[in-house]
Amino acid sequence: MAIADRVKRQLWASSAGLCQNPACRADLFRVFADGTIASIDELAHVIAQKSDGPRGNDQLPLSERDEFENVIVLCPSCHTLADKAPQHYPSELLRGWKRTHEKIIRRALLIPILKDRLELRSEVRPLLERNKGIFEVYGPHSRASANPLADAAKQWRRLVLVEILPNNKKIATLLEINRHLLKAEELATVRAFVVHAEALEYNHVSGDKNPAAPLFPNEMDSILG
Ligand SMILES: [Zn+2]
Ligand SMILES: [Zn+2]
Repeated sequence: MAIADRVKRQLWASSAGLCQNPACRADLFRVFADGTIASIDELAHVIAQKSDGPRGNDQLPLSERDEFENVIVLCPSCHTLADKAPQHYPSELLRGWKRTHEKIIRRALLIPILKDRLELRSEVRPLLERNKGIFEVYGPHSRASANPLADAAKQWRRLVLVEILPNNKKIATLLEINRHLLKAEELATVRAFVVHAEALEYNHVSGDKNPAAPLFPNEMDSILG
């Protein structure tokens, strides 16, 4: 048994040519000045092809071990480490690497990696301000919500779903992808914001109002300031 070409193509596409160990991400295709390309990618089995190989003692049938789900794209060093010390590289860890990598590649196509705090601020700030504006006009503490004729509660529910939740996701992803630009205390604020955003989403999507949902962390108003 060997890995089929269709599986290889799928693996190369999903790896975007980078080692799928998130702590490594080595570029697997080096282009030299003379135009030659060296490919150093290795296709590593999560569960070895044979039962006596690394992580090979597993219920996964031998016939499924060359399928996409069981193979990860690694650079030579990460492949060697994973196979020489399999007790430190269990199958769940390798599958987690692959999932994380695929998620980051997908997000990176949509969310820019920015060069400094000013750029990040100019992406994040308008989204935060838009959400704040909606909250102030229609939120549960707004003047409109105190007026029984204004039907602000209905407007608020709608705007949370179509504007605030998607903006929150974009803010969280922008800050996560560009976390190298944040200070330690800002990273803590981002974590609090993500917990708040998830609770808000849960409340509005499930309709099950959890009063313990954490509030918007006020430190977000001055993040990247
Ligand atoms: Zn292998
Ligand atoms: Zn690597």
